[in-house]
Amino acid sequence: MSSLVQDHHPDCLFCKIAARKIPSKVVFDNEEFFAFHDINPWAPVHFLIIPKMHIPSMAQLEAEHAGMIGRMMTLVPQLAAQEGCNPYPEGGFRLVTNTGAEGGQEVHHLHFHVMGGPRPWARG
Ligand code: AMP
Ligand code: ZN
Repeated sequence: MSSLVQDHHPDCLFCKIAARKIPSKVVFDNEEFFAFHDINPWAPVHFLIIPKMHIPSMAQLEAEHAGMIGRMMTLVPQLAAQEGCNPYPEGGFRLVTNTGAEGGQEVHHLHFHVMGGPRPWARG
């Protein structure tokens, strides 16, 4: 496993949010994942899903992470519906994962943005 992948990174904002050391509006919490509202939403529904394990980005994913990332993806439709995204196909949602500086990533703990709700959106 890459040395960039850790159980917990002491200086990481999202590790602190998952550990509830920094408050957030919680959407989901289990042993493996944490989800919370984005502080600066682009859309009527905008939340983030993170693995509790500190993985900096998609760039560090290896074969051993296939199960984890699959479980993380299957959470998306479940939590989108829970948070008020309208049903597919008239409704739906957008899934975004920014990776690295050129990918527009600002917080270096792997996260999925899930955005949805009626148009227009603030951005995107
Ligand atoms: P990215 O640019 O993909 O790394 O996205 C980071 C996201 O984290 C941005 O959409 C921010 O609005 C969001 N964010 C930053 N700090 C917090 C926080 N304390 N609570 C919730 N969301 C945050
Ligand atoms: Zn982290």
